[in-house]
Formats: sequence, structure tokens, C-alpha cells
Amino acid sequence: MGKFRNGVTRVLGFLGLRRNSAYVNAYIHKANIRSGLFMSAVVAILEVWLVIRQHTKYIVDEVSSGKYSYFDSLFRNTSLYWLLMVLGVSMFLYCLYYLSSKKNNKGLMIAVLVFSSIGVALCTLIPLENRIKNYNPKRLVDTILLISLYATILLYHILVVIATLTKNKGIKADWLQSVAVITIFATALLVFGIKVSYGDFTSIKNGAANPDYKQIICFLMMSIYVGCLLIWRPYISIAIVGSIFLGFYFLLKSFEITNPGIRQLPEGDVVNYITFFISLVMVSVSIYSQRHLEAEKDEELEILATRDKLTGLHAFEYFNKLVAEKIKDEEIKENEYIYLFMDIVSFKILNDQKGFDYGNRFLKHVGKILTEVLGKDALITRQGDDHFVVFAKSEGIEQEIEIIGERVKELDLDVKPGVKVGGYLFRKKEEDTHNSIEKARYAFSILKEYGHQHYLLYDQEISKKYKLIQYVVSQIDDAVAEGRIQAYYQPVVFSKDRTLCGVEALSRWVDPKYGFLNPGTFIPALEDAQLAYKLDLEMLEIVCKNMRRVLDEGGVIVPTSINFSRADFSIVDIPNEVIRITSKYNIPTKYLHIEITESALLDEHVDLKDAMNRLKENGFSIWLDDFGSGYSSFNTLKDYSFDVLKLDQEFLKGFDTNQKSRPLIKAVIEMANQIKMRTLAEGVETEEQAEFLKSIGCEKLQGYLISKPVSYKDLNEGIKTGKFVIASDLGD
Ligand code: C2E
Ligand code: MG
Ligand code: MG
Repeated sequence: MGKFRNGVTRVLGFLGLRRNSAYVNAYIHKANIRSGLFMSAVVAILEVWLVIRQHTKYIVDEVSSGKYSYFDSLFRNTSLYWLLMVLGVSMFLYCLYYLSSKKNNKGLMIAVLVFSSIGVALCTLIPLENRIKNYNPKRLVDTILLISLYATILLYHILVVIATLTKNKGIKADWLQSVAVITIFATALLVFGIKVSYGDFTSIKNGAANPDYKQIICFLMMSIYVGCLLIWRPYISIAIVGSIFLGFYFLLKSFEITNPGIRQLPEGDVVNYITFFISLVMVSVSIYSQRHLEAEKDEELEILATRDKLTGLHAFEYFNKLVAEKIKDEEIKENEYIYLFMDIVSFKILNDQKGFDYGNRFLKHVGKILTEVLGKDALITRQGDDHFVVFAKSEGIEQEIEIIGERVKELDLDVKPGVKVGGYLFRKKEEDTHNSIEKARYAFSILKEYGHQHYLLYDQEISKKYKLIQYVVSQIDDAVAEGRIQAYYQPVVFSKDRTLCGVEALSRWVDPKYGFLNPGTFIPALEDAQLAYKLDLEMLEIVCKNMRRVLDEGGVIVPTSINFSRADFSIVDIPNEVIRITSKYNIPTKYLHIEITESALLDEHVDLKDAMNRLKENGFSIWLDDFGSGYSSFNTLKDYSFDVLKLDQEFLKGFDTNQKSRPLIKAVIEMANQIKMRTLAEGVETEEQAEFLKSIGCEKLQGYLISKPVSYKDLNEGIKTGKFVIASDLGD
């Protein structure tokens, strides 16, 4: 039963009776228009050739014999050819116009209109050949065919004018009009084929039948054109070609009846005639099914290239293309549209807690919400992970973002995720989609500086910041080469006696244009651009160079901590580089500590454990920076082995006011001691804090109470003058 049904579906498919997707229909339709291009070109060229032939064959003789004037002779012999030639050219131009990638291609539009007007003029002005003038009731069919040909050509031109003038009124309207044009064009060709062949079959000279049968080729050719080259669905081809063949057959039969004794169709010819019809049907089925297959494959590829697999939204590249087209094609006003960069708050938590599949389903829902809230006109894409990018009308966008946020929150009532959005209004002079998205993304990235706000529009003030980060990213190489990067040193002391046990090297950028820049300005920008490693390695170089100089001068040095960003580890082989630079300056490894922030450990792409092990094996100690600022602090301690835990300065922020501050700090320090980690508190600003930290067993202190970060010169001055007393035992 199943097999039978399959067979039936296949046959129906071959005949074109199955429903097609809109894409497949459009594909086949375009193929039709392309065939129309080819057919019309052949028609026009053929007619030019025929006019030239008539010229040399009849006209020259007729004119020189004085029988007709030149124009009389020309019209008598070539009027139909002119008509068809103009029809061909007009169709050719129309197809070009339809396929033109440029919307409203004015040049082509005018060309189509001009040729159609010439066609209309020819249809009405050229006398309907002598045969109409000398109407012969016996040749009624001939005359009807001729008038039909004129009428269809006239109708064709009128349709072309309408279709050309009203193009781009919607996909469906365009499609309907072009189908009408192509159908009437095909009809004209068929009527022409029948007329010519019928005229030949039934030609009578001196009272006797005088056919040469050659013109059947014209009829057959037109049938091939229309039935097979225009890709109708096969059942339509069969209907068209079938009725034309039957019609032509009966026309000839009726001629035989009205002219007894003149036999037009011998038995053998009828068999050939039917065989030809069957071949045509086969060809049309085969062309159709091949095109259909191509169309389906093309559709699959198109889906792959244009859709985001997970959410079904536009693929990112395709989104860019659509936005570029929209900007180009439509008269979009300044500020009328907005780019949004959206990120899901707490998506990582959601993914970690509830699993990857849940996360995927969640993102799918977010895509749906975006489409529903922003409406049809908005273009939406997912730019990897949980980032969505939108190009939408700017009016009312803030309320819409509000609604999106609410609905996203409702998707998971445990975690209550939200959205954070950066926006950039469309500017005419900034047509580059990529740059515009970057600006929206930038506005998003600095949202955290704006408190609890969840939407930030890129404006003048942000623009200044953005320019600065772009500057930083573009200038890092020069800054390194020209010595604009400087190292400041912040002392670290033992809590027990405040003797100096080390320093932390902190970078500063002294810029000829922007002046003194703090790391808060340039480090996030460099990290974002994956260039922070350049700065960090330069810092290591500076620190080592400074140490070497002091050592060479016979001075004393203290261990220095260097900060490394998380991205560094995935871009360069940090252990290798550290070993290379320290050996270059011959600095004993105990004088260098490597600080890695906790957030670095969250990056799954980096095999930090391996890098840490290699550094440790080579004698460097590794410090966990900013402990407590991330959300998986305790897991970090379990999974990685750090030598020192640096308590984030946030812990000390509410020291005087927050009741929980002290017990919390105490608990962390005790916990660290228990797992045999050494401890350091950052951001120590008061005596009270320092005393408390000492009392709970925090080994080292760093903060403004001891010293702000100072230049290397000031650090050494401090050591020399006894402001900083180096500890007798520096520890590890
Ligand atoms: P960090 O590594 O946690 O460094 C401590 C930051 O806290 C420094 O800020 C320091 O000046 C500041 N600080 C120290 N004591 C106090 C205090 O008592 N009160 C207050 N309010 N602040 C204090 P800075 O120099 O602005 O550096 C900021 C951050 O930039 C650093 O935080 C570090 O994460 C990063 N950084 C600095 N230099 C580099 C570098 O060369 N490479 C990398 N990757 N990051 C760096
Ligand atoms: Mg640090
Ligand atoms: Mg820190």
C-alpha cells in the first residue's frame, strides 16, 4: 500500500501536481524568464534574417521591375517579420528588466516601453496583409489566424507596458504580471507557428493543392519552445501542447473535408505527429523534474546560508546583506532605524545549571520573542552564543526592549534572566553595517558603568570613549615600540611588620594625544581585541629590564607580580614567552609572580591548567587575582592550584558600614589557610583594616595605606630612603 502511494506521489510529482515551496516556484519561474530571454533573442534574430532574405529574394526584383514601390514591396513581403522582430526584442528587454538586480532599472524600463510602443504602432499601422484586403471567404481560417496573431501581439504589448510600469508592487503582483506576459508571448508564438504551417499545408496554386510541407517545422519549433523551454508544470505543458496539436490536426482535417479530394495527412504522418507529441511531453517532464530537483537543492543551500540553524533567525552574514540592501533600496531617513546588540543576562548560569539542550531551547524562544515583539519589518540575527543583533524601526524601541526583557525573564522563573541592550541609531554617513553593529556592541559593553540600566544608546559621550578604545587598539604596537607603556609599582608588605615583600607591576600608557591613561581605559579594549598579550609581554620586558639594571648596579630587588589577561593564554604560549624573557635578562624565577584573574579560569577554550603547570615547573609562583569577584570562586580553588590568593578589594569596600564584611573576610582567609594557600588583601586603605587583616592571619597587604602605585624611580628611592623596608625573609 505504502509502495503504491509512493508510486502515485512520484507520478504526480513528475507531472508537476505536487505543491511546491514558494522558493521552488520562484526558482522555476526565474528559469522561465531566463528561457524567455533566450527564446525572444532567437525569435528576433530569426526575423532579422528573414527580412534580409526576403529583401534579396523578392524585394530587389519587384522594385527593379517597377511592379511595386519600395515600401509597398517591403510591407507585402515582410510585415509579419517586423511584427515578430519587435515582439522578440520587446520580450528580450522585458525579461532583462525583470531579472535586473537593480530595482527600477530606468534605462531598461524606457527601452521596454519604447519597443512596446513601436509594437503597438506596427500592429495598428501595418496593413493586415493583402489577404485581408482581398478577403477570400474560402480562406476564413487563414484570416482568423492572422487577426488572432495581430490581436495577441497587441495584447502582449499592452500587458508589457502595464507590467513594466507597475513592477515592484509586491512579489506576488510581479509574479502574476510576468506570468501573464510570458503566457501571451507564448500564445503569439504558437498562433504564428500554426498560421505559417497552416498557410503552407493549405496553399493552393492555380486551383490545385500546392503544399511543400516544410513549414510544419515552424509549427513544431514553436511548440517545442512553448511546451518545453518555458518550464510550465508538465501537466500544463501537456495541456498546451496537446490542445495545440489536436487543434492543428482538426484544422487540417476540416480543410480536407471542405476541400474534398485534397488529402493533407497521410497515415504515416499522423503516427509521426503523435510520436512527436509524446517526445515533447517527455522532454517537458524531464526538464521540469530536473529544474525541480535543482530548485530543491538550491533551496536547501539557501536555507543553510541564510538561516541560523538554532533559532531559525537570519544567519549573521545574510543579515548583513539584508541590512545593506534595505539601506540601499529604501529611502530610510536618518535615525529612523536602529541597530541593537543584545545579550542575555545570566545565560551562562542557565546553561551551566540546566544543560546545553535547555540553553538551546531557551535561545530559540528568545528568537521567537524578538520576532513577535519587533514585528515583521525588523531584521534579526544571532551573532553567536547568546548575542542577538537587530536592525529595526527606532520608534518605540525602548518600550519594546522593556517588553522583551519581561518576556525573557518569564522564560525561566528560577534564574530570571534578562536582557542587556546597546543601541546605535542608523546614520546615513555610516552605512557600513559592521561598524554600526560594533558601536551598538560597544554601547552594550559599557552598560555596566551605568548602574542597573539595561539599555544604552550610543551617543556623543560614548562616541568619545569609543574613539579612544579604537585609538588604543590601533596604537598598541606603536605604543610598545615608542616606549609609551610604563610600569608603575605598588608595594606589597607583610601584615605582621609591614616590611616590603614584593611589588605589583601595573601598566600606565603615557600618550602624546590623550595624556596619562589608566589601565581601566585601555585594558578592556585590548582584551576585547585580543591584543592584551602585547601589553603584558611588554610589561614583563620592562620589569625584567629594570631588575637587570638594578642588579647590574649592585642594588637589591624584590619579587614583582605581573598581570596576565585571560585571552593571552589562548593567543600566545605564555609559559614559553615568560621563560624566554626572564632568561634573556637572566632574572631568577623566584623574583616573578604571575597574576591571573579569576575570570580567566572561566574561559573553557583555554587550557590554563597546562600553562600553570609549566610555569610552576619552571619555578614561577602563580597568584589568583581578584578572588571573590567572579561567581565560581570556590570551584576555582578546588580545581586549580594557586600559591597565593589575592582577596578582591570589593571585600574591604563596606568594611566600616557592612556588618557582614568582617566575618566574611575572616572566613575566606581561614579557608585559604586551611587549604595551605598564602593570602594577600588588596585595597587596604585604613589602619583599622590592616590591623584586622593581621589579626585574622592574612599574610600580606597591598593598598593605598602602604602606598599608591609609584614609578620605578620612586620605588627605588623609597627603598633607599627607608620608606620601604625590605623584609629579611621574602618568603616564596
Ligand atoms: P589589579 O591587578 O587588581 O590591581 C589593583 C588595582 O587596584 C590597581 O589599579 C591599583 O592601583 C588599585 N589599588 C591598589 N590599592 C588600592 C586602594 O587602596 N584603593 C583603591 N581604590 N584602589 C587600589 P590599576 O593600576 O588602575 O589597575 C587596574 C587593573 O588593571 C588591575 O587590577 C589589573 O587587573 C589591570 N592591569 C593593570 N596593569 C595590567 C597589565 O599590565 N596587564 C594586565 N593584563 N592587566 C593589568
Ligand atoms: Mg593584579
Ligand atoms: Mg587585583
